Formats: sequence, C-alpha cells, structure tokens
Amino acid sequence: MDKKCEIFAGPCSAESEEQIFAVAEFFASKKGAPADAACTPIAAIRAGAWKPRTRPGCFEGHGEKALEWMQQAQKQYHIPFITEIASTHHIDLCLKHDIQHFWIGARSSSNPFLMEEIGRALEGSPNRVWVKNPISPDLALWLGGIERISRKGKTLVGGIHRGFSMYDSAPYRNAPIWEMAVQFKREMPGVPLICDPSHIAGARAYVQEISQSALDLEMDGFMIEVHPTPATALSDAKQQLDFKGFDEWFAALKFRQNTCSSSQIEQMRRLLDEIDNDLIQILAHRMDLVKKLGKLKKDSNVSVLQFDRWNKVMERCLSLAHERGLDPDFVKKLMHCIHAEALRLQKEM
Ligand code: PEP
Ligand code: MN
Repeated sequence: MDKKCEIFAGPCSAESEEQIFAVAEFFASKKGAPADAACTPIAAIRAGAWKPRTRPGCFEGHGEKALEWMQQAQKQYHIPFITEIASTHHIDLCLKHDIQHFWIGARSSSNPFLMEEIGRALEGSPNRVWVKNPISPDLALWLGGIERISRKGKTLVGGIHRGFSMYDSAPYRNAPIWEMAVQFKREMPGVPLICDPSHIAGARAYVQEISQSALDLEMDGFMIEVHPTPATALSDAKQQLDFKGFDEWFAALKFRQNTCSSSQIEQMRRLLDEIDNDLIQILAHRMDLVKKLGKLKKDSNVSVLQFDRWNKVMERCLSLAHERGLDPDFVKKLMHCIHAEALRLQKEM
C-alpha cells in the first residue's frame, strides 16, 4: 500500500455514546495491522457533532454532548477523532474536549469571512484542518479558503474533494469534476488532497468506483462514512458503509505504483510528447494565420465574427471527428476554445 494513503473513517454524525464506542472499538482493532493487510489502521475517526442540514427540522447533531463521547472514546481506545467545525465557538468546544482534528464543510468553505475568522482563531496552533471543496465548482474559492487558514501559522491544512452540487450530477449525489482535483494538485503540490467518496456517491453502490478513480489520480487518502448500522443512521443513511463493507472496500482498492518502470510505457510517453510538440506548433501556425486574416478583415471592413462561416467550420470538424471516433463533446469544447482565442486576437487588432 502507498504510505501516503491516509484514511479518516466513521459515521456521518455522532448519534449516541454506544455508536461512538462501537466505531472506536472497530477501528482500534486495526491498529498495528500490517500496511498491506485487508484491513487498515486509520488516521482518525470522523464523526459530525454539528450537522449542517440543507433544510431545518432534520437531525442537526448532539453538539457538545457528542464531543464528550468522542473524548471518552479517544481516552479508552487511544485513537483520535476528527469533527466538523463551522465557527470559532466550535473550535473552543473541541479544544476543551481534546478534539484536535477538524474539517471544514462544503457550506462553510465557500465563505471567505468565515475562513478568515477560523484561520485567525487557529493562529499558531498545531491542529490538523481539512478543508472540503465549496459546494460550487470554484477552485479559487477552495484554494483561497486553504490559504486563509495555512498562512496563519503552523496549522497543517489539507483539502477534501467531496464533489460539487450541480443541477444534474446523476448517477451521483455530487459531481466529482475530477479536473478540479487535478488542478488542485497542480496549484498546491505540497498540500495533501484526500477524497470523500461518500458525499460524491450519495449511495453505497458507487463508493468503490469513485474511490478507485481518486487513487488512480494519486490522491492522498480518503474520508469515508462508516456506520455500525447504516440503515438506522440519522443522516446520510444511504451512503454509509457498515464495518464489513469498510473492510471489503479497503481490500478491493487497487493501489497503483506512481513510478513507471515499463519501457513500453516510457516509449509511448515519448510519442505523446512528440505529438504535443506538434500540436503546439500547429496551434502557433493557426494563430499566425488568424492574425493575418484579422488584418485582411480590418482592411476590408469585414466584421470579425461571421456565424455562417463558424458554423461550417464546426460542422466540418465534427464530421471529421466522427470519422476518427473522437468524442463530439470533446471536439466541440476544443474548437470553441480555439475559436475564442482567434476572436480575441482579431479583436485586439
Ligand atoms: C459531512 O461530512 O457529513 C458533511 C456534511 O459534508 P459536506 O460538508 O461535504 O456536505
Ligand atoms: Mn454525511
């Protein structure tokens, strides 16, 4: 198993003392297990003390009482807990009950005022804080939230990719938009990024495939919902795994190598590099012609954009793409992007 893979697992909500102790006992039994066993030691047990529900009137967490259960379970089983914070008051209560690991939920991470305030409250503290992506697919807002917390001092910050709320994210509850995770890793290479397959999935059946996609993108671990009896859960009942489900989930994960020793792969990559070089040369050549055409249009007093012409270009490209088995959506996006750049260059003239 890849040493970097950190796992946070536990129920969506802390529901009762019995539930918290049952979960702690289960995960404590994995401590000291060899890293490649079909069970894994986890970094901390997740459990929400305060639950941010979309509509009022649902179970909203037991608050400080839940922290007391977690504190006792931590003491008895020597395994840390992590919980969601959404205010500086939550931080004070957590620290009072010796809960040292926090995550910030998707509804809070989109609020720069709140992130700034939490950052200030944690200034200089060595706590671990994980920041979930905001509800909407806005990478800058997510990264900004992380910056507001990490720049305040020693606080160790990581990101949690939990998917994005979209009009249509079927079959999942939240759209993963994996490019966002890839962009995150590009922009913040030193910051760990873990995946929350439970909130992306919304249903147990999808948790495994989402987790594998995250591993294949070299994400650094998971936050996953596990409940002793998911069917009776007070929140997110459909997406939580039971204990057996957790063990099966872990055993089925395929950890890939992140270095590549196969010469065939190396050779193929060299070919792809050459094609990328060609693509850039061809694009540069196309844009040179675009500029020349722009000048001719200007001299002849012809408008920059002619819809008929553009529709024909797109039609021709899509038909060629079809012949070569390329995805039409992909080609459409690519051509729109090239065309937007061409328009920009010609408008600048
Ligand atoms: C949760 O982790 O239970 C939760 C409410 O998550 P999110 O903020 O991703 O919706
Ligand atoms: Mn949940």
